[in-house]
Amino acid sequence: MRHEEPVRVSRKDPTLGVSKNPVHIRRNVEDFDDPYTETAQLENHTTCRLCAYIYMSGRWCSKEELPSNGTKAKEPAMVICPACRKSQDRVPGGVVTLSGGFVWEHEEEIMNLIKNEAGKGQAVNALERVISLDSSSGKMEITTTNEKLAQRIGKALHKAYDGHVEYKWSEDTKLARVNWRRDA
Ligand SMILES: [Zn+2]
Repeated sequence: MRHEEPVRVSRKDPTLGVSKNPVHIRRNVEDFDDPYTETAQLENHTTCRLCAYIYMSGRWCSKEELPSNGTKAKEPAMVICPACRKSQDRVPGGVVTLSGGFVWEHEEEIMNLIKNEAGKGQAVNALERVISLDSSSGKMEITTTNEKLAQRIGKALHKAYDGHVEYKWSEDTKLARVNWRRDA
C-alpha cells in the first residue's frame, strides 16, 4: 500500500518571482539552483576538453587570462565546463527572439552587435556565451548560456535601434526570455 503524501507547494523566495521590470542585470544569478554550477571542488588547471578553458582559483578563464603565477599541473584533469555542458545539452539560460521587418533589413549590423555583446560578456565571465543563432519563420533566435547575456543583448538592441523590448522570466527553469521587435 502506498503512503500518500498530501501535495505541498513549497513557496520559493518571493524575490525570485516573475519580475515585471527586470531591466537591471541580476548579479550572482549562477549562485542559486543552477544545476550546471560546479558543486565539486575542481583543482586548479582543470581543463575543459571542448573549449580548452581552464579552471583557476574558483573560476573558468581562457589561456590568455590565466594568471602567470602558479605552476601548471603535469596532467590537468579534463572535464567539460558548465558552458559547454549547457551548449551540448541545449539548455540555455537565455533566449532572445528578434522579429519585425527591421531585423532583416539590418541583419548584418544586428549580428555584429550580438557578437560584440557576446564577446564583452565572455570577457566578464568565461561561461557567458551564445549557444546558437538561428533564423526561421521570420524570427531570429539567439540562445545564451546565461540569462545575463540575453538581457544584455536585449538592452543593446534597444539602445542601438529602439524598437520594443520585453523581458520574461520562467522561474522554474531559470530561463530569461527577451523579445525584441522593430517593424520598420
Ligand atoms: Zn568548455
